[in-house]
Amino acid sequence: MAVPYGRKSRTRSRIQRAANMRYIPKAHNTCSNCGEPKAAHHICGKCGQYAGRSVLEIQSN
Ligand SMILES: [Zn+2]
Repeated sequence: MAVPYGRKSRTRSRIQRAANMRYIPKAHNTCSNCGEPKAAHHICGKCGQYAGRSVLEIQSN
């Protein structure tokens, strides 16, 4: 196991953590059924459809 040469300062860790949190991947795909933005290769959270067929029953309350 590699041993760190020097301890990373609290500020350095926090700067890196903040930089990681800034990166939020945007939804580039939209559902073909309802047009809602959805993640690629994932079921639409709005209507529960995937690849043109209904996969999930979305309960409306
Ligand atoms: Zn949809």
